Amino acid sequence: MKTLITNGTVVNATGTAQADVLIEGEKIVALFSPGASIDSGGGVTADTVIDAAGKYVIPGGIDAHTHMQMPFGGTNASDTFETGTRAAAWGGTTTIIDFAIQKQGERVQDGLAKWHELAGGNCAIDYSFHQIIGGVDDDSLKAMETLVDEGITSYKMFMAYPGVFYADDAQILRAMQKARELGLMTMMHAENGPAIDVLAEQLVAQGKKTPYFHGIARAWQMEEEATHRAIMLADLTDAPLYIVHMSAKQAVEQVAWARDKAKNVFGETCPQYLYLSLEKQLGARSEQWGEFEAAKWVCSTPLRSEEEGHLEAMWQGLRTNDLQMVSTDHCPFCMKDQKELGKDDFRAIPNGIGSVEHRVDLLYQGVVDGRISLSRWVELISTTPARMFGMYGKKGVVQPGADADIVIYDPQGHTSIGLPFDASGGPTGKTHHMNMDYSAWEGFEIQGHVDVTISRGRVLVAEGQYHGSKSHGQFVKRGLSQYLI
Ligand SMILES: [Zn+2]
Ligand SMILES: [Zn+2]
Repeated sequence: MKTLITNGTVVNATGTAQADVLIEGEKIVALFSPGASIDSGGGVTADTVIDAAGKYVIPGGIDAHTHMQMPFGGTNASDTFETGTRAAAWGGTTTIIDFAIQKQGERVQDGLAKWHELAGGNCAIDYSFHQIIGGVDDDSLKAMETLVDEGITSYKMFMAYPGVFYADDAQILRAMQKARELGLMTMMHAENGPAIDVLAEQLVAQGKKTPYFHGIARAWQMEEEATHRAIMLADLTDAPLYIVHMSAKQAVEQVAWARDKAKNVFGETCPQYLYLSLEKQLGARSEQWGEFEAAKWVCSTPLRSEEEGHLEAMWQGLRTNDLQMVSTDHCPFCMKDQKELGKDDFRAIPNGIGSVEHRVDLLYQGVVDGRISLSRWVELISTTPARMFGMYGKKGVVQPGADADIVIYDPQGHTSIGLPFDASGGPTGKTHHMNMDYSAWEGFEIQGHVDVTISRGRVLVAEGQYHGSKSHGQFVKRGLSQYLI
């Protein structure tokens, strides 16, 4: 089975080129000068020819931070691996890295096995896992030794959520020592959880219980402090460190400081920290929900103040490479029965926003707005995630030998984000395939469009039709991070 993509502009992290792309089976096998494959002796007879004139041919998006059907706060994230990866495919993402979970008192191997069971045979696109170590003890430290052989080369700890996933400094130190020995990337949720819990309790005692105060309790000082502490513990142990979902400009300054000192420290932000704010979304109210409307945007780290310059600082970090990645932290919950759990107390609102479908588009809008270059876009959504988490060459690039994970992106197209049906059931013409009863991105307009999504040679989305299946996605065994020497 051969597919030829003709007349497109291939965009890689290294630049652009006019080229035809030949796919054979699951792999990209050749790039030709435009037309050479057919006209001047290339001699290619393809089963399918896709005309990409005027369009970008880019490596499929890699979302390195998702939580499909994750248990949190007494409920589960509303997207299953099936619905979440289908939505991802619609939005031009062809690989996700989700999180297998181990908690205090559980075996790491059991957590990993459980996530294999949940995801296996249920993904439309390829998938891998990071391992959450929610309980650092002798057993889990020992179990970390088996992860690399399993193709899991990164693990996550939490400086937040005491009593759930929280690791104290002693546990972090021990895990980082182990990670250094094994070559694992330490991913850190960097917020000072114990202090945040005190602030939240005091706010609630004062009657400040609406979702807005979620953002107040999780003050930027808590993120800056934890980021700095994580950096110093990583420095002490010589362990590579990756800070997830950064939103505070002062925390990014800490990462920049560490990078300027040539430390192996990396930073990730998310679309919500580039576009959504404390003032606008956490300050929102609606007829239906009143001030509880803002629960739609309760996530951690929280949305930050636009006035204080946090959003601008995230874009700047992407420009200066103080931030290297944009993942979604996709962790959707419906308003009905899920977010509603926190109707009387923001602390009980499940934390998370659904964005896995929109990351490629939202970042492309950054190109349109003159914030990032075309190649930086591809680097952020695909190439860096592939290198950071040990998949580059197979993923993250349009070149011979790579998996044929390709998106054909139309810069003349348009995407209106929001629920596809209005209150009376009429079609809105908007796009949203995630399993949620609202869109955190309702009303966002993107000057671009995902036309075709191809995963390992198979067309999943084309001409507004879905052709994928939940048995297509395969587990990707990852190597060590390719940023480390
Ligand atoms: Zn987190
Ligand atoms: Zn997360």
